[in-house]
Formats: sequence, structure tokens, C-alpha cells
Amino acid sequence: MNAAPRDLSETEALLAALRLQLDWGADEALAEAPLDRLAAPPPRPSAAPDGMATPAPAGPPPPRAPRRPAQPAAPSLLPGAPPPQPVQAAASLAAAAHSLEALREAMREVPTPLRDTATNLVFGDGNPESGLMLIGEAPGGDEDRLGRPFVGVSGQLLDRMLASIGLDRAAEEPARAFYITNILPWRPPGNRTPTDAEITQFLPLVLRHIALVKPRHVVMLGGVSAKALLRAKEGITRLRGRWHAMPVEQAGESATLPALPTLHPAYLLRNPAAKREAWADLLLLRRTLDGENPPAEG
Ligand code: URA
Repeated sequence: MNAAPRDLSETEALLAALRLQLDWGADEALAEAPLDRLAAPPPRPSAAPDGMATPAPAGPPPPRAPRRPAQPAAPSLLPGAPPPQPVQAAASLAAAAHSLEALREAMREVPTPLRDTATNLVFGDGNPESGLMLIGEAPGGDEDRLGRPFVGVSGQLLDRMLASIGLDRAAEEPARAFYITNILPWRPPGNRTPTDAEITQFLPLVLRHIALVKPRHVVMLGGVSAKALLRAKEGITRLRGRWHAMPVEQAGESATLPALPTLHPAYLLRNPAAKREAWADLLLLRRTLDGENPPAEG
């Protein structure tokens, strides 16, 4: 690392180095010692002609990152059965949750390394009686700290946008309120995009969340949410702006719910010109909530 400029005290230089790490997205300590992922792997013992492994070259062994504590296994379905695979474990936990409170606890039990780096589970916020459910991607830093979805800068923008069509997550009157959650309940380290494996693992819990809240309309915030819930391959710019029939389960039966994909508020912060499209989506939502233009399925 370059020497600190002479006018910086040692503390300021250390703080600057830390801020640089944060800017690069390295905001979680994953192990006690740094791990050089670019270093050449240690030589593997090769088999000698007589079948004996050749001894490892002399010298100290390369440093190894300390092992992380093992995740407690998810409950297995049958006594003595091997622990279920992560997706099966999540699906079993979801199916066994018959209330929002039980689902919140089930989410805590889903085995995932995301639990090691996140601070708080972020479950949901707002009024579950409202009939309108918004689903984002994953908590960010502010949400992780406070344990509530969409409370950071992008959440504040979203609240202002929804207020402009008369919606308020804190409203007691269901017709003015909404309920909001995410595909992932844990913050991915460094706010990275959720992986396909993480989305697949948590999807049964999101679908159970929808089944328990029983919204009449769903709004998907951003491409991660829209693609996961619509099982779509298209990006958000193609999906947004019209109602889709989202496959769900209602009372054990396959059904569909009207679902509107729209741009993620974090995207709008980076691309203010796209607010025009988001505004069109909000007006479509308002008209539908008012009973005009019943959503076309498809
Ligand atoms: N972005 C999301 O998708 N969800 C949050 O809760 C916050 C930011």
C-alpha cells in the first residue's frame, strides 16, 4: 500500500483505508486472516511410481483461513434421515409456517452463510391487511441495521413515490396502506446482488409469505424480484409497465395473482431520467387500485 500523505495522521490514514474498503464493497469481516484468492494453490502430492505419495516439499504450510463455525443443520424430515438439501430444508420450513410470526422464525432457521454476515433478519413492514404487497430484492446496510425493509435512501424515495399516489406503509386504513418485504431476508455482504442459489433457496419462503398475507395485488421492485416471481428470463425494462399473472398457491391450489413489475428505487436514484417510467407504473397501480382498468393477465 502507498505511504500515507504526510499531512494525514496515522488514524486518518487508517480511516481512509477503511473507507476505501467500504467503497469497494468490502464491508464485512469473513475471516480472521486475509485470504489471497489469487495465490497459486499449494502443490498437490503426486503419486510416486511405487504408488506412495511423494512427501510435501519442506517449509511452512501456506496459511489457511480459519474455518467458520458450522451452520446448524436444518431439521430433517424423518428421524435418522440425512439433513435435507438447502432448498428442500427451506421449502419444508416454509410449508410448516402457518402465521407470519412462524414464518419469521422459519426464515431464521434456513441454513445460509448470509446469516453469518448480516446483523438482523429483515422480514416485512407495513400493513399486511392492505391487499397490496411490494416485494424488493434484499436488505441493504440501513435495513440490516434496523431490521426493517426499505428504510434507507432508496426506501425513502419509494415512500415518497407511493405517497404521491396516496399510499403510506404506516397507514392504519387498509385502503391507504401497503405491506413490503424482500426476496432475501438477509443482507448479502457488500450489498452484492443475490445469487441464483440464494434466490432459489428463499423463493419458497417468499411464496409462503404471499400465501399468508393474501394480497390482491403484488408490485415487484426491480429485476431480481420480477424475474424470480414471474419465473421470467426478460429483464425489468421489458417486464415493467403491465400487469402479469404471477403463479401462486392459494389454499393449497395453484392460482395466479395480478403482479406489476416496476423499476427498483435504487435504480431510479442512479438514473433519475427513468422516474418517468416509474411514474407511469405508479399511475397504472393507482388506477387498478381504484378499480379502473382491471389488470390484464399475461
Ligand atoms: N433494496 C431492496 O431491494 N430492499 C430493501 O429492503 C432495501 C433496498
